[in-house]
Amino acid sequence: MTMDKTLTCRDCQEEFTFTAGEQEFYQQKGFTNEPTRCPSCRTARKRSRDGGYTGGGAYSSGGGGFGGRRERQMFAVVCAECGKDTEVPFNPRGDRPVYCSDCYRAQRA
Ligand SMILES: [Zn+2]
Ligand SMILES: [Zn+2]
Repeated sequence: MTMDKTLTCRDCQEEFTFTAGEQEFYQQKGFTNEPTRCPSCRTARKRSRDGGYTGGGAYSSGGGGFGGRRERQMFAVVCAECGKDTEVPFNPRGDRPVYCSDCYRAQRA
């Protein structure tokens, strides 16, 4: 028998209820982890992530001019997917994988 559970949010330390219905939903989805954040923190994070991602969108639309009207500095990298030497128009910071244009397209597809 499934019962409501009280969990503590890791962000705001508030207690919130992981209801029996939600637990069943998680089980149906095959999720083994319990939620670690209360619903309001989850919503807040989702919103900030969506909002924060406009930079990525702007970047990809800027990629439309990739044919190179303007000279761009290119950085030599090794593709994290296929290991091919390639160049990217931004300075890779090492905190996320860099792909060659083929793999980058495949990732986005
Ligand atoms: Zn919270
Ligand atoms: Zn590649």
